[in-house]
Amino acid sequence: MTHDGNFYELLTPWLHADAQAPCMETEDGTVLARAWLHAQSGRYANALVQAGCRPGDRVAAQVDKSPEALALYLACVRAGFVFLPLNTAYPPAEAAWLIADARPRIFVHRSEQPQVLGLLPEAVAKPRVLVLGGVGEGSLDGWAKSCSEVFSAGPNGGDDAAVLLYTSGTTGRPKGALLSHRAMAHCALTLGQVWQFQPVDVLLHALPIFHGHGLFVSANVALVAGASLLFLGRFDVDAVIDRLPRATVFMGVPTHYHRLLASPRLAPTLCRGMRLFTSGSAPLSAVVHRSFEACTGHRIVERYGATETMILCSNPLAGERRPGSVGLPLPGVDLRIADKVDRPLPTGRIGMIQARSPGLFEGYWNLPGQTRQEFSADGYFRTGDLGCVDAGGYVTITGRAKDLIISGGYNVYPAEVEAVIGEMPGVHESAVVGVLHADFGEAVLAFVVPADAAQPPTAQQVMRWCTSRLAKYKVPKSVRTIAELPRNAMGKILKARLREMAAAPGPATKPESGS
Ligand code: AMP
Repeated sequence: MTHDGNFYELLTPWLHADAQAPCMETEDGTVLARAWLHAQSGRYANALVQAGCRPGDRVAAQVDKSPEALALYLACVRAGFVFLPLNTAYPPAEAAWLIADARPRIFVHRSEQPQVLGLLPEAVAKPRVLVLGGVGEGSLDGWAKSCSEVFSAGPNGGDDAAVLLYTSGTTGRPKGALLSHRAMAHCALTLGQVWQFQPVDVLLHALPIFHGHGLFVSANVALVAGASLLFLGRFDVDAVIDRLPRATVFMGVPTHYHRLLASPRLAPTLCRGMRLFTSGSAPLSAVVHRSFEACTGHRIVERYGATETMILCSNPLAGERRPGSVGLPLPGVDLRIADKVDRPLPTGRIGMIQARSPGLFEGYWNLPGQTRQEFSADGYFRTGDLGCVDAGGYVTITGRAKDLIISGGYNVYPAEVEAVIGEMPGVHESAVVGVLHADFGEAVLAFVVPADAAQPPTAQQVMRWCTSRLAKYKVPKSVRTIAELPRNAMGKILKARLREMAAAPGPATKPESGS
């Protein structure tokens, strides 16, 4: 399913059908109609044109999540500018690096004089700064007020870039992925169909909108389906629980489910009107999957995607939702498991997950060589994830290729070891990394978060638990207790940080008496 025009055209049928229907409700209870979003994005688009933006120009935004920020994104899409959202948590030096790389014409920020500008190299032209949420000179809102709300969508569409998203960059410099109008349309239409979105749906939106999950998977799917949003500035357990009775769909990262489960308020009665909970961006443990079902009666639909690919797989709405699996490839997605030289592997074998799809990115910004390197000769994108597909077509991810541990010549897939440790009583969760080992090349080290900090399981207990469930070479050779795993904004475990911690001498778990 796709659409070759400007992505914004997919929203207009709903605007025309009932412009006054609610489109989103903010945290303070303000209800905004579809007509508001259309008018606001039209005014912003006109203001940006007056500010000198031309199709193809980048508009960077480092602003808090708000309905205005969403309208700004849609304004860029409508006008053919390339929207570049930046994580508000990026310190000035990091944001400056991204601005210097992307060279936006406009930088929308919270303050009139962002520190970032002073950190740009001299050779980089400073973008014009507009303030979102401010008043006075330089205020985008102030300017937009004097602009017409009428704006005809530009001729951009198809494979023209609509959004520039930098990959999480947990190692090395982040790369900017160019996402086209067509890729966004494919993702929104396909997920809308697979997850059976209807205009009566109410999406509880608690994800950031500087990432593909909050933007392409959540906001776009709901907007294209004519559904409405309960729009939270950020994820907060109580704010989410308060709104569950009025929502039909929630999309989260595994950390959200961990946190919801920890609340004594979570109960099936709150979720009576819900029809769908989805999880993605990081692996959802089978333990959390089962606990959530026991607590709410809902089986989470786990799905899998990446910045460069949009969504590739999802567990089905009707059919088996399998804990530990990311489900089946979506319609239009051609997914295969391949070896190191891109040869397809038979069913059940673990290898690199590769995909072709209308949802794939157009390439990395200013990195044609790097873009070519990430594709096979026959056009498959190498995701960097290892996994396998079973006879029923279900895909299981075993970890990032760069996190694969080779111990004594054998491959150890961290996800398998983490799943086993995660089932151990007294363990909240774990993360497994490889560390240098004189004999084995690499050895397995497990970081374990105890369920009760006062009673952490001992290293020997963890090893014993694993020995009876895993081949010997997969059993951790050392175990460290950690209060919390380091994660990025999307809940992904920062394995590089754990490897650094592993290299530094640290306390092992309390030794067992007598051993
Ligand atoms: P990002 O580009 O930030 O969206 O990160 C994409 C990466 O997140 C993928 O390549 C996977 O490594 C990981 N990921 C996304 N969804 C899942 C999932 N359901 N299970 C495991 N890993 C996932």
